Amino acid sequence: MIGLDGEASAEEGQGFVSWQGQGVNPRRMQELRFDQLIFARQLLQAYDCLTLPEQDRLSPLLAAIAEIPDKFSDVVFEGPDTNDGKALSGFFKRFQPKLIESLQAAKRLAEPSKAAPRLHLFWLDKQHCLPALSYLHNRSEWPMGIPRLKMPHEAPSRSTLKLVEALHTLMSDNELRERMRAGQRAVDLGAAPGGWTWQLVNRGLKVIAVDNGPLKGSLVDDPLVQHLREDGLRYRPRKAVDWVVCDMVEKPSRIAQLIAGWLADGAARQAIFNLKLPMKKRYDEVHRCFAIIDDILDRAGLSYILRAKQLYHDREEITCFLAKK
Ligand code: SAM
Repeated sequence: MIGLDGEASAEEGQGFVSWQGQGVNPRRMQELRFDQLIFARQLLQAYDCLTLPEQDRLSPLLAAIAEIPDKFSDVVFEGPDTNDGKALSGFFKRFQPKLIESLQAAKRLAEPSKAAPRLHLFWLDKQHCLPALSYLHNRSEWPMGIPRLKMPHEAPSRSTLKLVEALHTLMSDNELRERMRAGQRAVDLGAAPGGWTWQLVNRGLKVIAVDNGPLKGSLVDDPLVQHLREDGLRYRPRKAVDWVVCDMVEKPSRIAQLIAGWLADGAARQAIFNLKLPMKKRYDEVHRCFAIIDDILDRAGLSYILRAKQLYHDREEITCFLAKK
C-alpha cells in the first residue's frame, strides 16, 4: 500500500495482525493511513514484544518505555478482542494506575492539549506485552477501535448504531458537521424498521424511507418522514437530495452500481451504504465494487471521495461513504 518491504503475520482467531517492516524507517510507517485500512479497527506502531516476569512487571516495562522517544498524550491498556483478551480487564484495572503514576513521576506524560502520540500497551497475556504508539488523525479514538455507543431506547432497531458509527468513523467531526445538517433531505433505501431513518430524523433531516416493510415506533407519524412502499432498486426522487443511504440486502455489485448511479445522475450529492460481502474472496469483491463505482463516476466526469470500513457493528459487510469532490 505504501511501497515498503515487510511481512504480515496472523493466526486465526488471535484478534490482531502484525506487519514487520524490513529496514523500514519508523517515520515512513506514518504514511500508512488508518482511514485507508478497510478491515482494521485500530492502527498501532508497535515495538518489540516484552516478556515480563510475574514478580516484577513494572521495572522492565518502564525500562523498555524509557527507550521510546517523545512524551505521551496518554496511556491505554488493551488486549485482543477475544475471550482471553477480555479476561485481562481486572489485571488492567490494578496495573494501569501504577504505570501511569510512574510515567508521571518520570515526566513522560505531555500536557493533555498537546498532540503527542498515545502510548498503547497491548497485552497478549499477563506476561507478554507490546508497547506501541498511535498518532492523532491516524487512529481510532475509541480504545481498541470499539465504539461504546448507547442504544437510544426510542430507535426502532439496533442498526441505528451502525449509522452512528459510520458517520463518526468515515468523517471527521468537522466534516460531519458541514456535510450533514438539519433541514437537508435524505432518501433511505431499505429503511424498515427504521433505525437509520431514526438517526437522520434525530439530526433534523427530512427522510423519504423506501421499503415494502413497515416502519416502527414514533417514525410512523413523524412529519419529517415520508414512507414509500416502493422498490429501492428502482426508486428515484423527483428533486435531488443531499443524502442517499442504503442498507438493502442485495448483491454488493448491484448496490455499488445503484449508488454510483445516484451520484452520477445528480440524484444525490453523497451516500452511505453497505456492501454485504460473500463468505469467500471478500477483498476481491470490495475491489470489484470499487471498480464499478470508479467506472460509472469516471464516465460521468465526476471526481469523488470513497471511504470504507468494516465497522464494529458490521458483520459480513463493510460500510462506505461516497461523495462528489
Ligand atoms: N437500515 C434498517 C434499519 O436501520 O432499521 C434495516 C434494513 S434491513 C437490514 C434491510 C431492509 O431492506 C429490509 O427491511 C428489506 O425489506 C429492505 N429491502 C430489501 N430489498 C429491497 C428493495 N428492493 N426495495 C426496498 N427495500 C428493500
